[in-house]
Amino acid sequence: MKQANQIIQLAGEAQNVVITSHRSPDGDSIGSSLGLSRFLKSLGIEATICHPDPCPNFLNWAKRSDIILDFENDTAAVKEAMTNADVIFSLDYNGAGRLGNDMGELLTSASAAKIMIDHHLNPDNIFDVSVSHPEVGSTSQLIFELIEASGNFSKITAEMMEPLYLGIMTDTGSFRFDSVDDRTHTIISKMLETGLNHTAIHENTFDGNRLDKLKLRGYAISEKLELIPEMKTAIVSLDEAEMERFNYIKGDTEGLVNIALSIEGVEMAAFFAEKDGKIKISFRSKGPAINELAGDHFQGGGHKFAAGGVSFDDMNTTLARFKSVLPDYVK
Ligand code: 5GP
Ligand code: MN
Repeated sequence: MKQANQIIQLAGEAQNVVITSHRSPDGDSIGSSLGLSRFLKSLGIEATICHPDPCPNFLNWAKRSDIILDFENDTAAVKEAMTNADVIFSLDYNGAGRLGNDMGELLTSASAAKIMIDHHLNPDNIFDVSVSHPEVGSTSQLIFELIEASGNFSKITAEMMEPLYLGIMTDTGSFRFDSVDDRTHTIISKMLETGLNHTAIHENTFDGNRLDKLKLRGYAISEKLELIPEMKTAIVSLDEAEMERFNYIKGDTEGLVNIALSIEGVEMAAFFAEKDGKIKISFRSKGPAINELAGDHFQGGGHKFAAGGVSFDDMNTTLARFKSVLPDYVK
């Protein structure tokens, strides 16, 4: 990572360092934020982590005693931190829009040096330092690369590596996606040498299911999954009332779209979830250009095989729109 020394120098000279990441936190946004914060702490640099919205319950364990401010609940503190920051890290996203309108505006208007470290396609050019690696499976892996390239490998500890392992694990589908290579496993090997307890990370993340969560997922698969065989596509949709029926909490539908994609013969899957009058959409693909579909029709984007977007129409209109543009993206 050629920018490593520049990044450490900027952070070292700063009075106030802020670490931000994208809306709807996932293992990689939480993991890269905590990993970078713990690394900076080992250099004597205190950072304030500011996210747009709260950490989902199933990832709360990763925080240990660390604090993550969220704009939804800690609005004033986040405003103050971002306004006074000398350096703002943008981790696991590459455009202010991914923070939501209000927090995005805080980023664009901030006087801080803006450092992006990310692995999504098509970065914005609002950043002073851009580390953009779409070929790398996770931002957490890029934080490891930063630590190593800045000559601080000897400082790594199990506590520092734990959130980075989490981010690599979740963004690679537990080490199975195309983005995994020998470098990924070399990094994991170095992490294990610190004494990191990988089994606990998998269990903490995946084995804390509430019965309601499993029932919601069962309902979604048995009642709300639609197969469009001629388009090799599977759709799952849930409206707000359906989610409330199963006492939905954030994270409960995580990965449902991958289950739809796992159906024999399916090459594209889409999950539509109604939330606060909007429809949030997750796309997954084994080939079709979902990143373009999300960008062209649903104000979104992401990666080649995993993308997301949003619709402000009602569910039926959104589903109809999706189905009508589908043939343009499925060969
Ligand atoms: P997920 O379906 O897990 O929410 O997101 C899949 C991928 O698409 C993630 O890499 C995420 O960053 C990206 N993504 C999700 N929602 C959006 C969105 O609204 N806009 C953009 N540009 N990317 C998104
Ligand atoms: Mn990521």
